[in-house]
Amino acid sequence: MSMNGHRFRCYPNRTQENILLRWIGCQRFIYNSKVREDRYFRAFARKALSLTGQKPPIDQQYSQFIGPDTAWLREVPSQVLRNGAVRWKQAYRRFFQKLSGRPTLHGKGGEQSVWLTRELFAFEDDGEGGYFLRIGTKKHPLGRLRYVSDRPHDLPASIVISINAGQWHVSFATEDDVIYPKPAEIQAELSQWDETDLRAATLGVDRGIANPACTCAGKVYDFDPVQKARMEKKIRQRRRWQRRMARRTKGSSGWHKARKRVARTYTYASNVRKDFAHKVSHDLVTAPGVRMVVMEDLKVASMSRRPKAKVNDRGRPVANGARAKAGLNKAILNSAWGRIKTYAQYKAPRNNVLFLVVPPHHSSQECAVCGHIHPDNRPSQSRFVCQRCGQTDHADHNASRVIAQRGVRKVVGQCKSDQKVGAVRPEPLSPDSYAGGDQNKPQAGQHPSAHRSSKPETMPTTAQAV
Ligand SMILES: [Zn+2]
Repeated sequence: MSMNGHRFRCYPNRTQENILLRWIGCQRFIYNSKVREDRYFRAFARKALSLTGQKPPIDQQYSQFIGPDTAWLREVPSQVLRNGAVRWKQAYRRFFQKLSGRPTLHGKGGEQSVWLTRELFAFEDDGEGGYFLRIGTKKHPLGRLRYVSDRPHDLPASIVISINAGQWHVSFATEDDVIYPKPAEIQAELSQWDETDLRAATLGVDRGIANPACTCAGKVYDFDPVQKARMEKKIRQRRRWQRRMARRTKGSSGWHKARKRVARTYTYASNVRKDFAHKVSHDLVTAPGVRMVVMEDLKVASMSRRPKAKVNDRGRPVANGARAKAGLNKAILNSAWGRIKTYAQYKAPRNNVLFLVVPPHHSSQECAVCGHIHPDNRPSQSRFVCQRCGQTDHADHNASRVIAQRGVRKVVGQCKSDQKVGAVRPEPLSPDSYAGGDQNKPQAGQHPSAHRSSKPETMPTTAQAV
């Protein structure tokens, strides 16, 4: 779910729950029927239509799915069904824009949702500056849906009501026509790529102490000097006010004042971190040609270690700029790293980019060229010299390349293992296979990962949809 819309908890009663689950099931049925119909048409087109030069139709027709066997579809508002077909068409449009793979069957696991357009809901003034949400049509009323909004919102053109793990949410999309591809869809697309191409479109990101973030494209992200100077000043101020606070009588007005001043010193750094994380994450997912951004799970242990103090020939400590810098950066970065990851994660699908996290084991000691892993490859904090192949690089840059490769292997490797399991030669499709015949078999052009959901649909019930 995109983060620029609004998403609130909602609390349908028992009756409303049953109705909503039915709507969800029926909309999914139409969507999946469109997917199957399209597969049939394309298989047929390859064989026969190619002779006539005709293209399979991509339309929003759905009335053909309502028949004697599916009379239960008439028990929901027709708009719910139509929106199922529209959702499918939008997914198809994304495919044409190369924003995702072809629409695949929607399974019954995970989050389930129904998309409702204007005809199916209305906001009613509650007389206290808030709104009630009334759902349904005259013929198919659902009544008032209770939802809890923690912030003001615009009235949307459409809403999505979803259930996941027993919790209901209502989402107000601010960008109605835009439904971003799901990470799984992007991953399915990228897994078809050639490994070399994917490597070229992959940005590995190393998050470190000396360099807060460094990419395999050689870009280094750091706070600007003014920000750093200010943050240092704030830290000094904080220590001063903390000392004063300790000296003052607890609960006195002076103590309260000191406490407030201590708290205030945190705000600036916190804003800088947020700002920094936004800039870095945006830059990563919008970099030209990039389709995949890979980070590692934070290596907390090595992160919280300070670089060793250097000693000169006579065993005396020498001034170490990197060490001083690290001390400050460590304090500043602790929360910025997490934020960069969170922000990149939600910004990536909007840019049709896959965001991946890979295990961090020994990424700092592994050679990006030959894969040799040894502590000796790191003669210093910043240098990487491979003891096997002699590759020399900046340590952070080498690490970011290792991370990118791990991401590529994860995506490409998954594709290979899928092929082993599900390498069934697509069967020639007959009209039966789309009109409710055997739909459990993998069909032409279907990504293997979508198989799990290709069971014939039946009338949705509470038990199935939850
Ligand atoms: Zn090497």
